[in-house]
Amino acid sequence: MRVSRLMLVTLRDDPAEAEIPSHKLLLRAGYIRRLSPGIYAYLPLLWRVLRKVSAIVREELDATGALETLLPQLQPAELWQRSGRWAGYTAGEGIMFHLQDRQGRKLGLGPTHEEVITALAADLLRSYRQLPVNLYQIQTKFRDEIRPRFGLMRGREFIMKDGYSFHADEASLRETYAAMDQAYRRIFSRCGLRAVAVEADSGAIGGSASQEFMVTADAGEDLILASPDGSYAANQERAVSLAPEAVPLPGGARADGQGEPLATPGQASIEDLCAGHGFAPSQTVKVLLLLARFEAGLVQPVLVSLRGDQQLNEVKLANALTARLGGDHGALLAVAPLARETVRDWAVPLGLEAIPFGAIGPHLADAVLAAGGSAGAAAPPGGSKPALGRAFLRLADHTAAELPAFVCGANAADTHLVGASWGTLAPRPETLDLRAAQPGDRCQHDPSQQLEASRGIEVGHIFQLGRKYSSALGATFTNEAGTDEPLWMGCYGIGVSRLAQAAVEQHHDANGICWPTAIAPFEVIVVIANAADDGQRTLGEQLYADLQAAGIEALLDDRGERAGVKFKDADLLGIPWRVVVGRGAAEGQVELVQRSGSHKQELATSAVVDMLLGRLAVERAGVAT
Ligand code: ATP
Ligand code: MG
Repeated sequence: MRVSRLMLVTLRDDPAEAEIPSHKLLLRAGYIRRLSPGIYAYLPLLWRVLRKVSAIVREELDATGALETLLPQLQPAELWQRSGRWAGYTAGEGIMFHLQDRQGRKLGLGPTHEEVITALAADLLRSYRQLPVNLYQIQTKFRDEIRPRFGLMRGREFIMKDGYSFHADEASLRETYAAMDQAYRRIFSRCGLRAVAVEADSGAIGGSASQEFMVTADAGEDLILASPDGSYAANQERAVSLAPEAVPLPGGARADGQGEPLATPGQASIEDLCAGHGFAPSQTVKVLLLLARFEAGLVQPVLVSLRGDQQLNEVKLANALTARLGGDHGALLAVAPLARETVRDWAVPLGLEAIPFGAIGPHLADAVLAAGGSAGAAAPPGGSKPALGRAFLRLADHTAAELPAFVCGANAADTHLVGASWGTLAPRPETLDLRAAQPGDRCQHDPSQQLEASRGIEVGHIFQLGRKYSSALGATFTNEAGTDEPLWMGCYGIGVSRLAQAAVEQHHDANGICWPTAIAPFEVIVVIANAADDGQRTLGEQLYADLQAAGIEALLDDRGERAGVKFKDADLLGIPWRVVVGRGAAEGQVELVQRSGSHKQELATSAVVDMLLGRLAVERAGVAT
C-alpha cells in the first residue's frame, strides 16, 4: 500500500475529544475518525489491525474445535422477553438500541447473543450425542452506553468476538471453560498484550463462575485488586477481603443496648460526627436508604447498614436485590437514593416528611413509608405504575453486623445514639458481604498479605452460564438415560476493537504508536526521503516490490513531503520497521530502523529482505513484552 493513496491525515496536536494516550494517538495517526459519540469509522490502517487481531482469534479458537458462525444482529423482542431481559436492557439504564418494524414488531440491535444462540440450540440440539458444541462469531455489536468514551474503548458500535458453548453436564462446561481460558491467554499474548485474568462479577448476563482478562494500563476503567503473591486477583466489583479491625467503642453497649442519646447538631455525615466527638468511623453504623425499581412495577425501599468506615459495593447490592426480589418482580431496573429527586422522577407515592435524614439509625420504623407523597406527578421511565413496598428490605454488611456496640443515628433530628447494639436497638438484619474491598485490605486467603490496586482494561470475559438461558428458552436435550433436561451453557467474549486500542495504550512512546508486530497494520514502512530524486525513487520502489515478493507486509511512503515530515509520520503510525531510502541510495545503501527497541543500521539494499525475514520470523509469533 502507498501512503500517497491512503487518505492519510495526521495531526500534530492532540484532538480535544481525546483524553487518554491511545485515543489521542489513533486519532492523530489517522486510524479512526469519529462520526458521532461512540461511533467510529475504522480507516484502512486500523482495519488491517482489526483483521490481524481477528485472524489470531480465529486461529486459536479453531484450534480448540470451536466453529465460526454469523448470527443476526436484528433480534426479536420476544426472545428477550422469554429470557426475562427485554425490560432490563431497554428501560431505565438499559443499553439495547431497539426499534419497531413496519408491522409494529419490536426488535433490538444485538448487544450480545445469548438469546439468539439459545433459540438455535433449542431448535437444533436434541441429543447428548451432539454435545458439546462451541460456536463463535466476530461481529459488530451495538450498545447504547451511558458514557461512551475513550474512543474504541467504550463505543456504542464496536467489534466483538462472542462465543457460546452447549454441554450435557457441568463437567463438560468446565472443560470448555478451561480450554477457553487457555486460548484467551494465548490470544492476548500473541497480540503482544500483557493481560491478567481476574475473578469477575457475572453482571446482567447471569450465571456462576466468570473471569475477566484485563490489559494492565493506567487508563483502564476497571480497578483490579490482587494479592502480592499473585494467587488472588479480582475486579473490585467482585473482590472480597478482610476489613480492618474495628476500634472497640469505649464503654461498650449502654442503656441495655438502646444507646445513650447524644446531641449532634449539624453533624449529618460520619466525618462530621467523628470529628465532633472523637469517634473512629469504624465505631459507627451508617445507614443508606435506597429505592430499587423492578420491571413489574415494584419500588422496594431498602435500608443498608454499613460500618462507618466502609463503602457500599453497588454491584454486590444489585446482585443481592436481584436474588431476593428478581424472581417475583422481574429485572432490577435501577437503584437510587431514597431522596426527593428519585421520588419525583419515579412518581413513587411516598412522602419524606417522616424520614430523619442525617440521623437515620438501623431501627428506622417501616411506618415512615406510610406517608403518601406526590404519586402520579411523572410517569416512571419505562416501567409500569410503581407499587411501593411497605416494609424496608433490611440488609447489613458483615462488618456492621459484627459490631457489639456502635454509634448510630437516633432517628430524631440532630441526635445520635452511643453504645447501641443489635438485637436490642434494632432486630438483627440479614447479613451479607456488601462492602467494597479496598487496596490495603488484608487478603482472605492469607491475612498477612494486603490487596494491591492496579488499573485494567477489560478485553475479554468468560462465563459459566449454567442453565439460565436454556431453561428460560426451552433449550433441552435428551440425556443418556433418555430424559429431557436443559443444556449447560458457557459464553466467551473478546472486545476486538477495544483490544486494538488497548494494545496502543500498552505500546506507545512520546513520538507515537509502537505496534506489536503480530497486529501491526504493516511490518515495514519504506520511506523515500526525497521523492523528487529519481535514484531514491527507483530504489525505494524496487525495495517495496522485493519486500512484498518475500511475503513481508510493506507500506511505501512515496509522498512528496519533506523527509522530516515523513519520519515523524512513520513514528506516529508505529510500523515496527522502517527502511529509509536516502542519500546512500546511489551506493545502494539504506538505513534500517526499529520503531521500538534499539536496532538501527546502514546496510546494502540487497541485505534488507533477509535481515527482516530473520527478525520477523520471531516477531510474528508474538509474545507479550
Ligand atoms: P464493560 O464492563 O467494559 O462495560 P461488559 O462486561 O459489559 O464490558 P461483555 O458483555 O463482557 O462486556 O462483553 C465482552 C467484551 O466486549 C468485553 O470484555 C469488552 O472487551 C468488550 N466490550 C464491551 N462493551 C464494549 C464497548 N462499549 N466498546 C468496546 N468494547 C466493549
Ligand atoms: Mg464483561
